Amino acid sequence: MSDHFSAYRINYALRSHKRDPFIEFIKSQLLPAFALHVRPLSAAAIASFLVSGGNPSNTTATNDNDDDAVPPTPTDDLDALRGHYAQIFASIERLIHDHRAEQDKPKPESRLNMLVPTIGRFFTDLPLRNAFLAHDDRLALAARRHVPPSFNEIRGILNTAQLMASAPDLQLITFDGDMTLYDDGANFAEDSHLVNLLCDLLSVKGLHVAIVTAAGYTEAERYEFRLSGLLKGMADRKLSATAVAKFWVMGGECNYLFRCSSTYRLERVPLPALPEVFYSTVLQRGTSSPDLPTIPDSSSTNTHDVTGLLDVAERILRLCAAQMRLPAKIIRKPRAVGIVTSGTRIQREQLDECALSLQHGLNLYQQTTDAHVPYCAFNGGSDVWVDIGNKQIGVMMVAHAVGVARGASIVHVGDQFLSTGNDYAARRGCPTLWITSPTETAAALVELVGEMRANGREVGGE
Ligand SMILES: [Mg+2]
Repeated sequence: MSDHFSAYRINYALRSHKRDPFIEFIKSQLLPAFALHVRPLSAAAIASFLVSGGNPSNTTATNDNDDDAVPPTPTDDLDALRGHYAQIFASIERLIHDHRAEQDKPKPESRLNMLVPTIGRFFTDLPLRNAFLAHDDRLALAARRHVPPSFNEIRGILNTAQLMASAPDLQLITFDGDMTLYDDGANFAEDSHLVNLLCDLLSVKGLHVAIVTAAGYTEAERYEFRLSGLLKGMADRKLSATAVAKFWVMGGECNYLFRCSSTYRLERVPLPALPEVFYSTVLQRGTSSPDLPTIPDSSSTNTHDVTGLLDVAERILRLCAAQMRLPAKIIRKPRAVGIVTSGTRIQREQLDECALSLQHGLNLYQQTTDAHVPYCAFNGGSDVWVDIGNKQIGVMMVAHAVGVARGASIVHVGDQFLSTGNDYAARRGCPTLWITSPTETAAALVELVGEMRANGREVGGE
């Protein structure tokens, strides 16, 4: 069978939206060490362990076929595995370092690019070896004989490495909303651990905090309602005017900007119409320049292009709904169109089908026109939306507003980093943390505050 039609390629094409190639690559490098250097305890060793009264240090992992060999103790075995894993992470660390020297070239010829052809941009080096050792100290990953490091564990190690790298110079941290700060569709609860943690971050000198969310409301009151627990927490802690002025909300991915006032209310910050067209043009050229572009005036806008794109997206969604017989209704907004359930919950597979149909159809549509309005077509967990603009532009616009000029000084935290998710776009503009729940966000922020303190940054200075 031709390679073009092999089962592997077809399956990969069908499942690529559920995979992260870089994490899969790291996982594949760890697996041989796990397979070659760790042996399950033999029956004799387990019997010896039981006879010894349960003291693991008296137990040996044996090779039943070689009575003369000196078998390693389980501790030797597992200490060696920790060393092997650490070496692998150190090697990947070097691959990233070498890739960074190549990544701004038109055709990057890094080893990492050859091994993971879809690899993107790294804004900082990543101390993966130290991050692994920190995780292993806490979770004893190398103590396992039957279960190798998982996708989620590698994701966590990457997050820790990014926090270690970013903590000294972090000037802006942005957060997705749903499933990052609160549950899907929920409001920011007053008793959330994240209230204290975000207040701590706002008290760090020179650090701005923003929520960059798909939720697209034009009125501040709607965001104030959803973030009421956090805003009340800021008021209860009497955060200073300087601290709260560093809290921002960007809604509709990149369309509506708000800033917190000294009375703990959100105030709309005017944005020029459609700056994302300009940003997209600049950002597509790459971000090798350390300076962000100046936002143009509204003369470069063209609402016709936006309407045309949303019209096509709406037609695709109506077709998907009809073909899959979805219990759904279409919602059209000035800068978005979406499909939401009108009855029972729409299945994840059906939502993914809608998101991928939109990405495919809109990509084809834009190839037939001169208009290249940036958009984001994504599975929101219980609905699917096409938003004008995306989170890369949203994060960059907040960075512009707060005067941060380098992507390396920013971190975006979100839960939707597969290709059908809306945090995915942020990866092109700054380092990211991929979390899966508000609980994980809280754990990451505890790590971040610890790293900042370790680097001499005062938490509570403002
Ligand atoms: Mg989310």
